[in-house]
Amino acid sequence: MIVAKRKPFNEIKELISGSKKILILGCGTCVAVCLAGGEKEVAILASQLKMALGLVNEDVEIDELTIERQCDREFIEEISTKVNVDDYDLILSTACGAGVQLLSDVFDHKVVVPALNTTFIGVAEGPGMWTERCRSCSDCVLADTGGICPVTICAKGLVNGPCGGTRHGKCEIDPEKDCAWTLIYNRLKKLGRLNRMEQALPPKRYSVQQYPAKIVHEAYRRRYE
Ligand code: SF4
Ligand code: SF4
Repeated sequence: MIVAKRKPFNEIKELISGSKKILILGCGTCVAVCLAGGEKEVAILASQLKMALGLVNEDVEIDELTIERQCDREFIEEISTKVNVDDYDLILSTACGAGVQLLSDVFDHKVVVPALNTTFIGVAEGPGMWTERCRSCSDCVLADTGGICPVTICAKGLVNGPCGGTRHGKCEIDPEKDCAWTLIYNRLKKLGRLNRMEQALPPKRYSVQQYPAKIVHEAYRRRYE
């Protein structure tokens, strides 16, 4: 899932300053799960903004709406069945950066600003905690590393064993953190696959990463030719 967190409140206030009618648009998927931009967080943000703007006698109207996903045109089309987007000076989106951008594409005559900082692709570790697990490198090595990503977990992104700084299983960059390669070694040992560490992996193919990346599924190739 995409993990994000809300921008500082004062930054959000600055982003919306000068607008008289604002739509706060939530996203019901990843950012709802990480408690940053779903329906509840939209309601909290709307209340906080109304209170803060009310205190300085600013006459601003704020409406709220949350759709299933802002990174999918199908769901964005639903917005116009619920509100008239042209009534608003500004849309304050609580989606990830991808959602904000698609919203800006679809409503390209509207100012759309992000209320969140998109942070990483990760997993839920427990209530209220998420950790980064993937940097979407387009050349996954997890089969050789016991399902632990060295690109993400190792501070140097090393894919062929630890650097010389590893000490007692901890990382030299941050001794509070486990060395990724100790974790990988222990996992491979547990799986009886330590022989995987005997073969050097080929140099990481960072060239396969495209910025911006694009994927077209085989079945849909003709459609986009
Ligand atoms: S190697 Fe790591 S960063 Fe690359 S795709 Fe696999 S999990 Fe993601
Ligand atoms: S100590 Fe381990 S995790 Fe830290 S940079 Fe070196 S190999 Fe990577």
